[in-house]
Amino acid sequence: MNAAHGKGHLYGPARFERAARTELAKPQLRENLRHATHTIRDKRAEVVDELPDWEQLRESGRAIKAQVARRLPELLERFEAAAVRAGATVHWARDAEEACRIVTGLVQETGASEAVKVKSMTTQEIGLNEALEAAGIGAYETDLAELIVQLADDASSHILVPAIHYNREEIRDIFRQRMPGAADTLSDAPEELAEAARTHLRRRFLSARVAVSGANFAVADTGTLVVVESEGNGRMCLTLPDTLISVVGIDKLVPSFADLEVYLQLLPRSSTGERMNPYTSLWTGVTPGDGPQRMHIVLLDNGRSATLADPVGRQALSCIRCSACLNVCPVYERTGGHAYGSVYPGPIGAIISPQLTGVAENTSLPYASSLCGACNDVCPVKIDITDVLVRLRGQAVDSKRGSPSAERVAMRLLSWVMSDPRRYDRALRAARRGTAPLAALLGGRRTIRHLPWPLSAWTSSRDAPLPAAESFREWWQREQAQRGETP
Ligand code: SF4
Repeated sequence: MNAAHGKGHLYGPARFERAARTELAKPQLRENLRHATHTIRDKRAEVVDELPDWEQLRESGRAIKAQVARRLPELLERFEAAAVRAGATVHWARDAEEACRIVTGLVQETGASEAVKVKSMTTQEIGLNEALEAAGIGAYETDLAELIVQLADDASSHILVPAIHYNREEIRDIFRQRMPGAADTLSDAPEELAEAARTHLRRRFLSARVAVSGANFAVADTGTLVVVESEGNGRMCLTLPDTLISVVGIDKLVPSFADLEVYLQLLPRSSTGERMNPYTSLWTGVTPGDGPQRMHIVLLDNGRSATLADPVGRQALSCIRCSACLNVCPVYERTGGHAYGSVYPGPIGAIISPQLTGVAENTSLPYASSLCGACNDVCPVKIDITDVLVRLRGQAVDSKRGSPSAERVAMRLLSWVMSDPRRYDRALRAARRGTAPLAALLGGRRTIRHLPWPLSAWTSSRDAPLPAAESFREWWQREQAQRGETP
């Protein structure tokens, strides 16, 4: 039996190319993104260059995750046994709906009507905030960037810096209008904005009885969960409330404690360009009188087993969500995260989202790339993102075979012309005969912006170049003839 695909916030209502057009029309967004991604990528390059064994670390990061993929069922059972021994309760969720149902029920059991949240992509993936709100439970983000996005009633646009698309003035306006207790005189100075958020969050921390987190890593040998963060707000959530509920994708496992050494070097340098992560919290079950006294771990599949079944695509499960690939991607830099429609934007989103949902459900994301390979070069666990993209594009084409589309009609026509050299030559000669008058008509421009159907499928998002004055074959024959060689 095939594993089920995932559900949740893994695609948007519009295809990538259409959504990207909307985002490209926002110059302020492009300026914000350009500034932020270039700053982070330069910092990353600097600190990575400091390590003489960076390539070996990357190789270790890749190898450990490959081992996890091979041994996943065994490691999951080992993790569950260790976590239960330490006092946690482990739940298993096949998909987003089941995970939301479990978490909602657990919060309701405590009688609480609010929960504070540690920044977590997995809970966003399953739409947990919306599910809790539908059950009358307020879910409050405590990561500063997530808080900004939540107050603005917006969606994250970056894995690590969800509010990357806002500048300081925009954040000040959001705080003034939406943050309870924020002064009308609040300025856009970073220290004033941070102080306003601190005061607001402190009230939440002190009243919260339940916290919800994800985890960056889950250690199979000991049942330990690990969260890395920059602000310390997550740690407040992990220690103050009575009940802690952690939603953990099954791809977050590492076999042993020693493996953390590799990832705790790879992650901060790749993500924020720091040598060490400011706050790294590890927790294993419950300890009487110290921290949460009830701990629930929800192990989430949501399409991960289905992804594991693909021998090429499964490497996407190695991702440690550092976001280095986003910061170097020319497509992400121009469109921003919202165009992807998934909580996972950028190159990793283009390969993980369609695999979690099934490619047939999400065919446009594998095309959200120029295939330049910059993402492969920076990935700390050596995911061959472009290889997976090409494979997914093949699967996307296969999934649409049999249903008519302008692009397929155009490709079939082209394939018929190009499958016969004489036919191809004749078509080229005919096209070239029209080139000179066409170029004159276009005012000397060598590209056509709009072609009639079905070729409009190509020009709807690209220009079509006019045929060259001389084809390569003709040039070759001429060259050889001039040298007196037989072509
Ligand atoms: S694919 Fe690689 S570079 Fe991109 S977020 Fe994941 S680990 Fe980082």
